[in-house]
Amino acid sequence: MINFEEARKIIFENVKPIGKERVFLEDAFRRVLAENVKASHPIPPFTNSAMDGFAIRSGNTEGKIPVKLKIVGEESAGKIFGKEIHEGEALYILTGAPLPPGADTVIPQEEVKIEGDYIIITRKVGKGENVRYAGEDIKEGEIILEKGIQLNSAHIGLLAALGKIEIEVFVAPKIGILATGEELRELNELLTPGSIRNSNTYALIAQIKSAGGIPLNYGKVGDNPEEIKKIMEENLNTCDIFLTTGGVSVGKYDYVKEAYESIGAERKFWRVAQKPGMPLAFYILKKENRIKYLFGLPGNPASVMISFEEYIRPLIYLLSGRKNYLLREIQARLSHDYKKKKGRLNFLRVKVFFKNGEYWITESGPQGSGFLRTLAFANAIALIPKDAEYLSAGTKVKVHLVEW
Ligand code: AMP
Ligand code: MG
Repeated sequence: MINFEEARKIIFENVKPIGKERVFLEDAFRRVLAENVKASHPIPPFTNSAMDGFAIRSGNTEGKIPVKLKIVGEESAGKIFGKEIHEGEALYILTGAPLPPGADTVIPQEEVKIEGDYIIITRKVGKGENVRYAGEDIKEGEIILEKGIQLNSAHIGLLAALGKIEIEVFVAPKIGILATGEELRELNELLTPGSIRNSNTYALIAQIKSAGGIPLNYGKVGDNPEEIKKIMEENLNTCDIFLTTGGVSVGKYDYVKEAYESIGAERKFWRVAQKPGMPLAFYILKKENRIKYLFGLPGNPASVMISFEEYIRPLIYLLSGRKNYLLREIQARLSHDYKKKKGRLNFLRVKVFFKNGEYWITESGPQGSGFLRTLAFANAIALIPKDAEYLSAGTKVKVHLVEW
């Protein structure tokens, strides 16, 4: 049996991104940038009005309040007035329209009195009020997004503002999923006595998508080593990572390890000193110059989801070229005493909250590895050290934030 840290070291060592490709911006959400993106033009591209109002020369209001200015025309977003604004003049301007030459400020329409072709201003207006300057958001030539960033919605909006139709990203890893267990029923099958729903596959599909990977669902098989092996052999070429759930413990019908070994995979470890998820198995298979990462995940839902977050999500990130590949870690205080046996790192499903300037955690419910409810209401995993036995309320522990 090995430790959590050793297991992670073995998996994460020497992982290289799969490759690069160009994708349309519309398909780029959750993909990882494989290029530095430079701003090809400033944003905003031209100096413009931030309000509906009147573009004037600020000097017109200095020591001359109240002042009456002539409205010389109108300019809305997308239009260009094209003439200079002189002393004594005002241009009716709408939000987003370019500031005309001569003008250096905008007074909002609610703040002036309109009398026929004139406005009356009753306060001093400073230079630059309600003006958005060219490049004040992003400068031309600036590296605005760096290689290794996983694109979120805001990044996509920014790239669109820069007119990027296509961008270079890393290839997204493909992850095969095979559920094993005689008792499993699919969502559209009858739940007969002794059978349960295959929930693991669906939780994993969602986790893989949220990590930016491509899930490939190979369904479920009974506890039959030949069938497990057959599905592995048929599909391994397509996958970068292969996940099985169930059948990896010491039971009479646990055939996953046997199946991996029969296809020539090299066992890197089996069993990690952790709870839940102890029987985790990890294999490597070299195929056509590519390394395949093969996992035998235990069957219980909490073991599956937590093992995914701690081992497989970071591996997907590394294969996708993402720079920050580990879960976000904080230190938080236990809000109750915690007792455990020595010898295994405990992953607790917890809720994180903020109180008196510090992070605190409370268990999201009973921690049995078969419980789904506690996963559904947790937003973090607390790591209770392997050799700890008793931790009193208030003790600080490591916490990994999850967004599953
Ligand atoms: P095993 O490791 O195969 O003994 O499975 C451990 C526990 O996880 C058993 O109670 C299984 O019924 C349950 N289990 C296995 N596979 C799944 C699955 N795909 N979805 C939900 N529960 C599962
Ligand atoms: Mg089983």
